[in-house]
Amino acid sequence: MALSFSCSASLTPQQQLQAQLKISSRNDKCLQKVKDQVKTVGIPSIATSPSVSLKRGNWVKLICGASFEDAVDIRNLSLVYTLAGVDCIDCAADASVVSAVNEGIEAAREIVPLRRPWVMISVNDDEDLHFRKAEFDPNDCPLDCSRPCEIVCPANAISLEGAAGILQGGVITERCYGCGRCLPVCPYDKIRATTYIRDVSATAALLRRDDVDAIEIHTSGRQTAPFKELWTSLGDSMGYVKIIAISLPYIGDSTISAMNMLYSIMQPNLRCFNLWQLDGRPMSGDIGRGATREAISFAVRLVSDKDRPRGFLQLAGGTNAHTVDGLKREGLFQVATASETIPVSSSSSRDALIGGVAYGGYARKIVGRILSLMQSEIGFALIEDHPEYLLMALTEALALVGTVKCYDSNLYASLGAS
Ligand code: SF4
Ligand code: SF4
Repeated sequence: MALSFSCSASLTPQQQLQAQLKISSRNDKCLQKVKDQVKTVGIPSIATSPSVSLKRGNWVKLICGASFEDAVDIRNLSLVYTLAGVDCIDCAADASVVSAVNEGIEAAREIVPLRRPWVMISVNDDEDLHFRKAEFDPNDCPLDCSRPCEIVCPANAISLEGAAGILQGGVITERCYGCGRCLPVCPYDKIRATTYIRDVSATAALLRRDDVDAIEIHTSGRQTAPFKELWTSLGDSMGYVKIIAISLPYIGDSTISAMNMLYSIMQPNLRCFNLWQLDGRPMSGDIGRGATREAISFAVRLVSDKDRPRGFLQLAGGTNAHTVDGLKREGLFQVATASETIPVSSSSSRDALIGGVAYGGYARKIVGRILSLMQSEIGFALIEDHPEYLLMALTEALALVGTVKCYDSNLYASLGAS
């Protein structure tokens, strides 16, 4: 769909004014449809606290990506998913990224007065797939390479151009989120991955900001020493957050004991909710239906284990539009209705079997398609300035968030199409 904002030189001033009025009127209509969508479909998320969503089992987190740092996309994604009713937006522990998320949230709340989702920053205690960047020198690449790296990258983070007998461009660092898919496809083995650990003092400073509500620590679960060191170093800054999430993979029979050891480190100064992010198949939700199986089987194993430590359970890693159906098949999707009274002051983790679901690559893919379309037609833009795109993006986001929030799909489908 093309939105044309250029005035043809052949138009008279009056025709130009009429064209502008037509565009303005169309934009007003689209923005009204956006408001209608949120008010009609997203009512439960307008007022309820994210903590209530966890207890009800319908918490939804948008994962922008622990290493994804494209501020324009992050701002627009945050805006769209805030309107769709997410409870939390998880982003890189970087000041400019946090500001972009908050800008998107506030722009959404200017359109519809929603409650604010929590902003979570992600850090790591040791080497971790989520905290790496791909890199290569395009000067080393054969000019006749078919560039499979560029094709396979899900984040459009590799851009190459042949000019004057050499390849130019390479990895767009702020867009690379470390998925690693480009590494094995290079026929000349030119791509390297560089891992990093977020700076502790910068993280502590971010946690003290009013617009940061939560932290997620990625850990392997295989050794607790790096986790303990990070936890100790973060010190009293952890007292500023509303929830602490620990993201870990399934490590077989030792998973529960690892969780208990991590919990014993946290417990003495744990003054807020805690959550276990069950990282099934990292950064793979956009690949397809099967990607979600590992996260679901991780959840099945934990839910049935009574020795697991206190804390909400939330799926991630491979989550997509099929995740809730998989949870339903396992009898794990038990969402309390909005009318059921849930004591907000309670910190019991047993309110729902699964607190909710976090969506990363898949969430970014479905809305990213619209953002890319907008960018190709208009260039970098604030999505609310182009409500036609915002309406399309919101319809996509509602369809995904709605699988957990149990929105009535007939409502947003009909509004988006009308
Ligand atoms: S494929 Fe993944 S690791 Fe490679 S550049 Fe793209 S986002 Fe980065
Ligand atoms: S696939 Fe390898 S050699 Fe080819 S352009 Fe990409 S990095 Fe260079």
